[in-house]
Amino acid sequence: MTAEDRLEEDVWERKYHLALERMERDEREFRAVEELLRRLALRLAALVRNPDDDVDALLGRLTAALRDGPSAASIEPLLDALSEAVTRADERAGIESPAGQADAGDSAEGDTATVAALRADMARLQELLAVVSARLGDMARYLAGELEETAAGEGADRALDARVREEMRELGEKTLAAADLVTLQAEVTARLSLIDQHFREHREREDARLAAYRERAARMHHRVEELESQATSLQDSLRREHELALTDGLTGLPNRLAYERRMADVEREVRAGTGVACVGAFDIDHFKAINDTYGHAAGDAVLRIVGQALARELEGRAFVARYGGEEFAVVFHDASPAEAEAQAQDLCAMVAKLAFHASSKPVTVTMSGGITRFNASDSMAVAFDRADRALYAAKRAGRNRCVLV
Ligand code: GH3
Ligand code: MG
Ligand code: MG
Repeated sequence: MTAEDRLEEDVWERKYHLALERMERDEREFRAVEELLRRLALRLAALVRNPDDDVDALLGRLTAALRDGPSAASIEPLLDALSEAVTRADERAGIESPAGQADAGDSAEGDTATVAALRADMARLQELLAVVSARLGDMARYLAGELEETAAGEGADRALDARVREEMRELGEKTLAAADLVTLQAEVTARLSLIDQHFREHREREDARLAAYRERAARMHHRVEELESQATSLQDSLRREHELALTDGLTGLPNRLAYERRMADVEREVRAGTGVACVGAFDIDHFKAINDTYGHAAGDAVLRIVGQALARELEGRAFVARYGGEEFAVVFHDASPAEAEAQAQDLCAMVAKLAFHASSKPVTVTMSGGITRFNASDSMAVAFDRADRALYAAKRAGRNRCVLV
């Protein structure tokens, strides 16, 4: 490389360095302006409340300089002055750093108009919050009480819920749109009183619904009581009917149907091998003659007295029914044929001893009986037939006696 070439290279190198330096300076300047503008933007919210005359004047001049074709030489002193004015304004507003926040409470500089305005806003905000939280408390208490009483009022609760949600949504929108705290306060108060009204209307409807429900419940309760008493008397009359259906009207003894039911049980027990029983057929002797001699009423009286004497005598030991006419059927439970026969003989002797009188004269009434064991192979009809045959054997043998077959 010649000396001339080297000289040319030095020249280019110097030019390059100069260009670099200029670019670096431009960039620093640009950064400074950018930082200042950023700080200005950050302060705008505070300044809008209480515009600063110095800053306003400097901003006007800066705008003019920028419009005329900005240069570092023209803008730099303005930026410096603006920077100082901004710092002074920051101090008055209590702003401590470029990224700082407005802090009205900390202002040790005294009560500037900005601080006073912030404090007033804070006070309004606190007042508003107190109102809102008191109303929310009321609503929460109301809803807690509501839920206990109105489990059935789901539809009404949903309607209230929808209304309250709508009001809250509106409240949210108005809050966002409110230009200042006074407007916001008015909006919140108005919305809260609307919500309050919805609650009151809902409460009134619920009270009316509850009253109607209670009245209906009382009516239903009364109706249920009526039905219960009807059911009880129906049960009583059914029981009476049932008893009557199984009772002989003249003697008060179980009737033939009752006897057959009892025999159905005996049949089952004997066939299952869980019981033994004997059956007795009894018939009043010459009963037709009693009727014919003393009248039908006297015959009825004889039937009644004999029937009740049999029931008394057999109580707890055997089952006795009026089988029909002047005939009685007896079921001797857990008795051997011999035991049953002995009991039957006692019964006949007892009837013969009953004192009957007709026209003040003693009348003798006797009874005959036929006894048989109930076998596992028997039906109740077969067993009774056998007992009946034994009864006629007793009649043939002279009456007032019992025969066992
Ligand atoms: P036996 O010694 O052979 O039994 O002669 P009996 O007269 O008792 O028998 P019979 O069958 O000839 O007569 C029975 C009578 O009982 C006939 C009927 O009018 C009468 N009788 C049937 N049921 C009743 C009743 O409920 N009341 C009255 N008073 N009489 C009745
Ligand atoms: Mg007879
Ligand atoms: Mg008879």
